[in-house]
Amino acid sequence: MLRDSMERTFAMIKPDGVRRGLTPEILARIQRKGYRVVGLKQMVISRETAEAHYGEHKERPFFGELVDFITGGPVVAIALEGENAIAGWRGMMGATNPASAAPGTIRADFATTMGENVTHGSDSSESAARELALFFAEGELLA
Ligand code: ADP
Ligand code: MG
Repeated sequence: MLRDSMERTFAMIKPDGVRRGLTPEILARIQRKGYRVVGLKQMVISRETAEAHYGEHKERPFFGELVDFITGGPVVAIALEGENAIAGWRGMMGATNPASAAPGTIRADFATTMGENVTHGSDSSESAARELALFFAEGELLA
């Protein structure tokens, strides 16, 4: 039985991270932290999925570029499980803008621009549930 604070979240290595060979480094950080990887696949995201995933940003000026970027090469989609994994993974990634991300976070260590900031993480339990369902079929996730 899962404890109360045991959570699942959706993490993604974006196309810039995959292209730059950062997948092993990022998976190593996730595993050293102690999260359990309950789903993992490399894929190219369709425009339809990208637009749904980033739906909250559809009125923002960068939306078109964001969709082009996220569909522009393979990503690694990851389902993580762990105590407080939603906020914990966001903490490991650091702030959206790498220039303000804390030292030692993924975005501070590996990114220089807001647009190409290496990883994604769900920001709430509602978005985690929505994004996990968008990227993974139930049978693709470990029990
Ligand atoms: P986060 O990924 O930290 O949850 P947001 O949800 O605010 O950040 O934005 C989603 C993604 O959109 C960011 O990770 C980044 O790739 C891109 N983005 C956000 N703001 C900007 C911006 N001002 N200019 C370009 N890209 C942006
Ligand atoms: Mg976000």
